[in-house]
Amino acid sequence: MIELSPKLNTLTPYIPGEQPKNLEEFIKLNTNENPYPPSKNVDNLLKTFEVDNLRLYPPPHLEDLREVIGSFYGVSGENVFVGNGSDEVLGFSFFAFFYGKKKKILIPEISYSFYPVFARLFDIEFEEIPLREDFSIDLDIFLEKSSICGGIVFANPNAPTSLGIDSKRLEAFLESLDPNIPVIVDEAYMDFYGDSIVNLVKRFKNLLVVRTFSKSFALAGIRFGFAIGDSFLIDSLFKVRDSFNSYTINMLTYEIAKSVFEDIDYYNEIVSKIIKTRERVKNSLKEMGLEVFDSKTNFLFIRIDKEKFNIDAENVYLKLKENKILVRYFNSPEKIKDFIRVTIGKDEEMDIFLEKLGGILGAFKG
Ligand SMILES: *Cc1c(COP(=O)(O)O)cnc(C)c1O
Repeated sequence: MIELSPKLNTLTPYIPGEQPKNLEEFIKLNTNENPYPPSKNVDNLLKTFEVDNLRLYPPPHLEDLREVIGSFYGVSGENVFVGNGSDEVLGFSFFAFFYGKKKKILIPEISYSFYPVFARLFDIEFEEIPLREDFSIDLDIFLEKSSICGGIVFANPNAPTSLGIDSKRLEAFLESLDPNIPVIVDEAYMDFYGDSIVNLVKRFKNLLVVRTFSKSFALAGIRFGFAIGDSFLIDSLFKVRDSFNSYTINMLTYEIAKSVFEDIDYYNEIVSKIIKTRERVKNSLKEMGLEVFDSKTNFLFIRIDKEKFNIDAENVYLKLKENKILVRYFNSPEKIKDFIRVTIGKDEEMDIFLEKLGGILGAFKG
């Protein structure tokens, strides 16, 4: 046996949703991708891209790109970090803010499953804070436990529960918290909610807001995420990045990312469309007798009551797959094993989903 790092045996990597090879056969509602294409600008940009530019390394500090993002969110370029997807931004943040502190970080019991993966990678102890009965994040417990913690991380809106916390509540939370505790708020789905706390980073220098182009901007394939926060936090992220790889943003991603806000009207339009479809599908599911959470995201979290429907969530997932519809099922933790998570696709796709689901539930109703 080739001798590798003993640390490898302790890793539990994140398991991404399936990306099947015969993609065109499926209605893909399992990884919260956007069903609409990116702006036409991206098309034009790729068609006119100077291939000769690929000889060169991209600019290491990407000042102009960070300036473009900063000005859209009302901060300066110094307040913006950019990375190869927000997963990378989160990974660097865990390292920069928590590694080696010998203090536990606090994360929600149910949230983005990458957080515990990063924590284990960097030997950061974490405590999972129970959700409330209604699956919402209980900020009061976070506050109670915060005095001995090394940091706080959660997603807002949260995944996979789809629930949001309003900005007023978060502002009060940050006011009560020790300002020396780093807080990471992952706003991957915020554009589908519209109640961001990006504007609070000036007041709360311990707050890092993480964003992505993968969901609302229909650009999961370019791998681009960013973080907004005080320059002290942002500089620490560059320090970590430059200890791994100084060029995490490739030249094509760099060019596309710079152009995105030029066509913000288009992205707002597809986000509105998705929200409209979400509300319609949610109501149809409720009419079918299903419990569906009040989603602030581009997906629905649906409870399958196996007493009522004579079929459990896992088998609904499997039956949908037989019908060429991919949704996400989590067999752990226990608390969410009666749920399926369904990304909002185009209206036509969701109609087929509703029809097939209706068939599956009807068929097993005994
Ligand atoms: C999708 C998602 C991410 C990762 O986004 P990328 O930018 O594609 O890496 C991060 N956090 C949450 C909560 C997500 O759902």
